[in-house]
Amino acid sequence: MASVDTTTAQRANGQDQAHPPQIPVVNPATGAVIAHVPDLPAARVAELAVRGRAAQPGWQALGFDGRNRVMRRMQKWIMDNADRVVATIVSETGKTYEDAYVVEINYTGGALDFWCKNAESFLAEEQIHASTLAVKGKKMVVRYEPLGLIGVIGPWNYPLTNSFGDCIPAMLAGNSVILKPSEVTPLTSLLLAEGFAECGLPEGVFQVATGRGATGSALVDEVDMIMFTGSTATGKKVMARAAETLTPVALELGGKDPMIVLADADLERAANLAVFYSMLNSGQTCISVERVYVEEPVYDEFVAKVVEKVGALRQGESTGPATAEVGSMTFPRQLEIVEEHVRDALAKGARALTGGQRVAGDGLFFEPTVLVDVDHRMKAMTEETFGPTLPIMKVADAEEAVTLANDSPYGLGAAVFSGDRARGEQIARRLQAGAVCVNDALLNYVAVELPMGGWKASGLGTRHGAGGIRKFTKQQSLFISRLHLKRDPYGFPYRTGTSKALFKGMRLIYGRGRRR
Ligand code: NDP
Repeated sequence: MASVDTTTAQRANGQDQAHPPQIPVVNPATGAVIAHVPDLPAARVAELAVRGRAAQPGWQALGFDGRNRVMRRMQKWIMDNADRVVATIVSETGKTYEDAYVVEINYTGGALDFWCKNAESFLAEEQIHASTLAVKGKKMVVRYEPLGLIGVIGPWNYPLTNSFGDCIPAMLAGNSVILKPSEVTPLTSLLLAEGFAECGLPEGVFQVATGRGATGSALVDEVDMIMFTGSTATGKKVMARAAETLTPVALELGGKDPMIVLADADLERAANLAVFYSMLNSGQTCISVERVYVEEPVYDEFVAKVVEKVGALRQGESTGPATAEVGSMTFPRQLEIVEEHVRDALAKGARALTGGQRVAGDGLFFEPTVLVDVDHRMKAMTEETFGPTLPIMKVADAEEAVTLANDSPYGLGAAVFSGDRARGEQIARRLQAGAVCVNDALLNYVAVELPMGGWKASGLGTRHGAGGIRKFTKQQSLFISRLHLKRDPYGFPYRTGTSKALFKGMRLIYGRGRRR
């Protein structure tokens, strides 16, 4: 089902679809080809960049109020067209209607609302108090200028949240944007280009560069900053490429998020959230529950609850609200990775208490799978699986859980469940992850006011919060002299008396205190 008119969308996006080769877009739940999009070569990306740069000054000149007006219209457009946007997302990702509505539409509505309300204050000029003696009396100001043209490269798992979500602050900061969606899920982005055209966004401010990895690579060469969301392996390539032009990058990468369940935890809640956040979007969520460590006294009870809940999940093509809990996977290669991780775990002694294999048929379905008797020799516990699997490991105590949770190259998210909130928080502070939830999981992502970014191999920089919009700007410091002499005391020519007085003054002011 092609729920987007790509011809109209491509026209709205200023693309001539006659020339570039076409990429087929497949509905992964059915295997049917639902549309074709152009695979833009580097020369076409360069043309988009010229158009984007030409449009940017006018967009910046509109000011916060003018830009807000357009973005608010877009917020309304998305809500008015939510069914169509959801149908498009579902058709190209295979996810369920709920995944698309709750995680994508809801996030985007909230993000548009948040950034429209806060962009101006986050980017307001700030007068800095002069505390260094040498600059007393000077006026100091920090201000922010848009970078110009931002390249946003997005993954296939959340074509709205993880691609468009970053375009919102970038555009509200006064930049124009070229969005390169995953070749697997380009239709949502094209639909948004159509929406923007209807909302009166000046041409060239938001453009979509459909294509494969080479298109993304070409985009890196053309823009003033790259906001990349995707795998750690591709993130490294993007950063290396960007280094050639000293183009700044922000990277939101992969993860292997641990969940720790302590013996005093509310097991019913912990089991519900473990199942929900490991199976949500068929497990293809960057911050999620990828592995669980449970204290020995409650291990059996926790596993029993999880197995019962996973066993009750309905899996299949989502044809409307509440028709399935677990949809298809999105990307054929990802299904192979999931198969490989489960196979590897079983070969090394793990047991699958539910699921464990691919579902026969044309769709990309993998059975919701609970693995036990797992350990860190297995890929399912150490590498990003990104599928509907939940490996659960028994640990002697919280110390072992913390050690194992931190035994990972990744550091995106984590979760701790404990009946003692203070203890849960203490443990959260010891986990090596950019975002840690206590008695919750993943929900921090929708808190647009709370920064989120990965440690270690999970990323560079943050999205959300003040930093989530300032990264799309150049920061300028103004230093303005108000009260001054014709000649500063520390200027040329040096005079013995003045120099000695300065050195003495320095020692008097900064030389106080003791060495032991
Ligand atoms: P990939 O890294 O494979 O691709 C991400 C994007 O980069 C795609 O648009 C891709 O295009 C493009 N790309 C591929 N090669 C290059 C290149 N050389 N230069 C520039 N761009 C390129 O990631 P996936 O799409 O597979 O997404 C899944 C990954 O994303 C998981 O690891 C997941 O954890 C991570 N992720 C992280 C999030 C976070 O916030 N930290 C959020 C969501 C996902 P194409 O698809 O056409 O090849």
